[in-house]
Amino acid sequence: MLDNRKSDNLYGKGCLSYVNQCLYENSTEIFPIFIFTVKFLITKFMSSEFWYKEGLHFGCKICGRCCCGESGYVWVTTEEINRMAKKLGISAIQFEQAFVWTVRGRKRSLKEFPNGDCVLLNEKSRGCKVYEDRPVQCRTWPFWQQNISSPKSWERTAKFCPGCNQGKMYSLEEIEEQKNSISF
Ligand code: SF4
Ligand code: SF4
Repeated sequence: MLDNRKSDNLYGKGCLSYVNQCLYENSTEIFPIFIFTVKFLITKFMSSEFWYKEGLHFGCKICGRCCCGESGYVWVTTEEINRMAKKLGISAIQFEQAFVWTVRGRKRSLKEFPNGDCVLLNEKSRGCKVYEDRPVQCRTWPFWQQNISSPKSWERTAKFCPGCNQGKMYSLEEIEEQKNSISF
């Protein structure tokens, strides 16, 4: 049963309809202010919580270190496969057959060469063959949760990746957006 007691609040029905009317009439003015306030509060909250609240520098040196070495997974979605296939001028089916394998019958990952290089890593230049269209997992490196969970973990990441603490400054919001766009 619908509960209409909501209207019988402490301030009476008249007050509610007045508020509703104001919101409706001034919605174009109130909405941007509301969004601004929410963003401001979120940023304030985030700033107090994160050690990298002033941002972090990162600029890829195209050394290829994060695309080789120990065996691992580079998860890919159908949309990413389509984009990468287009970049290489082949069909999605051809791309899947050549570069993708299915892990435990479920998720799809890029294949590797026997030496651990990602199948899309250019052997000579050490650059990615689909750099502009690389999967989100690669795109969000090095701002993964495990890399930025503490100054120590960032330091450890910087020892591995020469692009850390170099180049462009990423704001807290940009880092959080990247961190939250992947889940391992
Ligand atoms: S290890 Fe760092 S600098 Fe090297 S390719 Fe990967 S992201 Fe770029
Ligand atoms: S897709 Fe490109 S960026 Fe990602 S691991 Fe492979 S070579 Fe590296």
